[in-house]
Amino acid sequence: MKNSTTITLLTALLLNMGITASAQVKAYTVADAHSHNDYKNNIPFYRAYEKGFGSIEADVYAVNGRLMVAHDKKEISAKRSLKILYIDPLIEKLNRDPQRHLRLLIEIKEDYKAILPLVISELKPLEKYFAYDGHPGRLSIVMTGAVPPAAVMPNYPDWISFDVDHLDGFTAAQWKKIGLVSFPLSKYVHWNGKGVFNADEIKRIKGGIDSVHNAGKKVRFYETPDTKSSWLAMLRLGVDVIGTDDIEGLGNFLNRKETSEYTAPEPYAVYHPTYKSDGEVKKVKNIILCIGDGMGLSQLYATYSANKGQLNIFQMLNMGFSVTYSADAYITDSAAGATAFASGQKTNDRAIGVDADGKPLRSLADYSADAGKKTADIAVCELTDATPAAFYAHDAERSHAAAIASQIVSSPVDIFLGSGYNDFLRPLNGVTPIDKMKQRGYAIVRNFDDFLNTPATKILALMDDSVTRPKMAGRGNYLPLALKKVTQTFKNAPNGFFMMIEGSQIDHGGHANNLKQVITENSDFDRMVGDALRFADEDGETLVIVTADHETGGLTLLDGNIGKGYVWGDFSTNDHTGTPVPIFAYGPHSLDFRGVFNNTEIFNKLKALIK
Ligand SMILES: [Zn+2]
Repeated sequence: MKNSTTITLLTALLLNMGITASAQVKAYTVADAHSHNDYKNNIPFYRAYEKGFGSIEADVYAVNGRLMVAHDKKEISAKRSLKILYIDPLIEKLNRDPQRHLRLLIEIKEDYKAILPLVISELKPLEKYFAYDGHPGRLSIVMTGAVPPAAVMPNYPDWISFDVDHLDGFTAAQWKKIGLVSFPLSKYVHWNGKGVFNADEIKRIKGGIDSVHNAGKKVRFYETPDTKSSWLAMLRLGVDVIGTDDIEGLGNFLNRKETSEYTAPEPYAVYHPTYKSDGEVKKVKNIILCIGDGMGLSQLYATYSANKGQLNIFQMLNMGFSVTYSADAYITDSAAGATAFASGQKTNDRAIGVDADGKPLRSLADYSADAGKKTADIAVCELTDATPAAFYAHDAERSHAAAIASQIVSSPVDIFLGSGYNDFLRPLNGVTPIDKMKQRGYAIVRNFDDFLNTPATKILALMDDSVTRPKMAGRGNYLPLALKKVTQTFKNAPNGFFMMIEGSQIDHGGHANNLKQVITENSDFDRMVGDALRFADEDGETLVIVTADHETGGLTLLDGNIGKGYVWGDFSTNDHTGTPVPIFAYGPHSLDFRGVFNNTEIFNKLKALIK
């Protein structure tokens, strides 16, 4: 008896919690969007409908026994009837799309007595789609504007409901006829759509929203600024119907919401460096060059926010900005970007390890090998991809994967890790790059565990593409483990080592305009950097550099909550941008990396330290 009571109470509690949670977080989609004055845009109905809008508005006049769509009387023309612009398209579309729901908001411009009888007769062909109490259809008809007095509302058919701007003075029968409550935003606040509401304003607006919700109806605001900040504010407030004149803008904003928002599950701990050797002017024995492909300041700050306000990279005190334009473009690609910091020359986009005239350039890996250092080239992508390739290959065209792969045979780099095995199987003079590397004494490794466990000191590790899948698709600790493997292999090298290790896929998240992908990749990269800083502290002669080749996505942070690990990112492009990227340095000579300088200076500054 006692047990079953407990279970019942617990069940009730859980159910209650579930209801509360879902009531608090409304999952917005483009179905919550309303095309205000829809008939005014160049393609009435279809633009908003095809974009997925759940609500469309048309203003009507009664002219010679027909409903004509117009904002004012002067605009009335024979071709712009409600039938032509809305009723006929609705019949066709609702028939074809059996899942589609829509609200048609019809604004009575004048004389409901003339208009409502025409609505009843003209909308008759849509009858089977009508949604109202006891008739679960897909088309809601809501009359707005010069609606009749409440007293006569119940005289109209059940499928006709009304939009009103107040809650008081209705009888129960009249209230049943209310389909929507709409307020001018100015009833609560005067706002130009910029910035955020203060606590007092939120309280006032929320009061209005709650009063409608408590009365069991949906709420809309009109005369709202048509900006991203305003749409975001409506979402945050829990408004049911978000109006716009910018169908593309609001449609994209809501359609991309799922890939624009991210809340990190659990923050990870960051490493707090000792700073013992930081900034010392002394010998640099080892260099760890960490490249976050596509990692700009917004990507870093989004990752910092998702990690509840901490980042390993932000522990680094000495920082600057790297200017990334290439020889032939304001916007660099990864090939020209990597060539600049690997070999010190601005070259054309697409060019790997050659200057703008096609002349091969030596990389930091080559100079390090000359100085007797061990070297490593580590990426989470094909080894022939731009960033890793810039350290061993020379080709004016980055897509020449086979030609790039073939050049690995003359590189002094000791440890390679990436994917793209097949590129290394194409024979040159009868010998494949793989065979040639075997002859040169390299262990050829095809499996990540084998890579971590091999006792070999010269390794060509070529993973299947599934191993270098996105972090959010379950890649695991690839980067931190790769860093550990290389540092352990090289730590007793008498002349030290140089390693390039790339967080290759931060860029992919930017190209895909997927904030979760950006942040999960950047977090993975940042954890690896934390381990690099710890190694640098233990070693005392290691310089850690963290930078990017360029920014990807034009990422803007529209909203976030550091306490909750939450971010809303908005991308302005699916490509790279020209914004300079941050550079962070830790360890001896880290002071050399302050200021704003060209990406080629990264090469010059590092080369000067390779002895
Ligand atoms: Zn890219």
